Amino acid sequence: MSAAAESLAPSPATREYLAGEHLLLINGERVPAASGERIEVQDPATEEIIATVAGAGADDVDRAVTAARAALKGEWSTMTSYERARCILNFADEIEKNVSLIAEVEVMENGLPRMISEYTAVKFGAEFLRYYAGWATKIHGLTIPVSPMDARNGETLTYTRREPIGVVGAIIPWNAPLPMAILKLAPALATGCTIVLKPAELTPLTALLLVELAHKAGIPNGVINVVAGYGQSAGQALAEHPDVDKISFTGSTAVGKKIIEASTGNLKKVTLELGGKSPFVVFPDADLERVIPGAIRGAFFLQGQNCMASTRLFVHEDVFDTVVHGIAQGVGAMKLGPGLDPASMLGPLISGDQRDRVMAYIDAGKESGAELVAGGDALPGKGFFIKPTLFARTNMDMKIAREEIFGPVLCVQSFSDSDGLEGIAAEANKTIYGLSGSVWTKDISIAHKLAAMIDSGQVSINCHAAVDPAIPFGGNKQSGWGREFGMEGLEPYLKTKATTVLY
Ligand code: NAD
Repeated sequence: MSAAAESLAPSPATREYLAGEHLLLINGERVPAASGERIEVQDPATEEIIATVAGAGADDVDRAVTAARAALKGEWSTMTSYERARCILNFADEIEKNVSLIAEVEVMENGLPRMISEYTAVKFGAEFLRYYAGWATKIHGLTIPVSPMDARNGETLTYTRREPIGVVGAIIPWNAPLPMAILKLAPALATGCTIVLKPAELTPLTALLLVELAHKAGIPNGVINVVAGYGQSAGQALAEHPDVDKISFTGSTAVGKKIIEASTGNLKKVTLELGGKSPFVVFPDADLERVIPGAIRGAFFLQGQNCMASTRLFVHEDVFDTVVHGIAQGVGAMKLGPGLDPASMLGPLISGDQRDRVMAYIDAGKESGAELVAGGDALPGKGFFIKPTLFARTNMDMKIAREEIFGPVLCVQSFSDSDGLEGIAAEANKTIYGLSGSVWTKDISIAHKLAAMIDSGQVSINCHAAVDPAIPFGGNKQSGWGREFGMEGLEPYLKTKATTVLY
């Protein structure tokens, strides 16, 4: 193999992992799907099938839920919070020890650049787990001074216990396989829940590998179970299952609505992290040296397959041409290629279907009268690559500006002083979504006023999508229900029991 080809090939350890038999993980055992179904996993950079995985159906989901229910009453429930924290810390260490293998597997099935995969494996893998391991020993209730039934002071005691909510069904998308799995597992483990994890059918390998590492770290059998499978079968069965206490879902708004419907049978608790179409507002005094790379990163990170992507830029007319020109130059210099190539800055889209979907949006953009400034087409040959695409002079009546594309397409719209902050906020909020957003200016009054007026779960100032394990994250409007990350991210995994004694 030539040196160039060598740098693009996965390591022997990754090849060995991919060549292995990929089964479901139920009660600590690797088991085939009851139906014998297999799902093919494709490398989106080469279109080659890199592995097949057992595809779970309703029977397998039922077995996994039974195992999770039993584990809730087993060794896991008698462990001290210190021991539970130690297991989570061990899991984090396993991820760091195996970061190269994990990153290569994630790159092979998702297409993202390796450097990003390695970074997120540490920051939103190992460090995220460590953050929540810290919380495991700090979850407690209250004693409350009360007087039920006319009791006098000292005649009664009321205390609350924070109990694990129970069996959690976690359903995740394909756009960031490792972080998505860890964001669900970490708070569920910290609170003492047990989990049935359903990864996306396009990217099941990273989740299976991760949970093998969790077992190595000492997390008891049955605490985490993995049912790789299709959404309409395995996902639906998990969302409907009468013995699941909670669904934690990340994915599209359309499927989020189906999850709500499916969960009504036993009124299980639901949290939803859904789509986005985030605004990025640039005032004329902003530091354009930071704005331009920030806009490129914000829009094209993960090829734009990112729920927080800043896909709608609102730029003051005085700096509009400079910003558009700077972004066009920047994206023109971006190298597209397979994630294992260290020179690649952008990988492929996840699938042929996704490429075709995004190209249909680009065609709609071209027909809408928006000005195509950069990109606008797919790369010929193998792999689902689309050039980073920039449309200027867009407005909020255009489909490309209104709908979540989940691909490398950026819309830039101008504003002027006469719009005022109310006018800018109205345009920024003209969307069904409310996940992220950013304001770029040196004027702290404008920054904070507009940040308060943007209707989203997160707003960043002079940066975009500031994410950290300790910063609460989640969506307003149709971007979701509830919050993940930080202290608030524990709440959906806990229930409160109030106990009162009358002496
Ligand atoms: P998707 O909604 O199609 O699929 C998400 C998961 O749901 C997959 O595991 C899928 O198999 C499963 N699923 C599909 N149909 C189901 C059903 N009927 N019942 C139960 N499960 C079902 O989303 P996707 O295409 O995988 O991911 C892209 C979407 O995810 C985008 O809209 C993006 O914005 C969103 N997303 C949101 C966040 C966030 O934190 N808010 C993060 C990443 C991605």
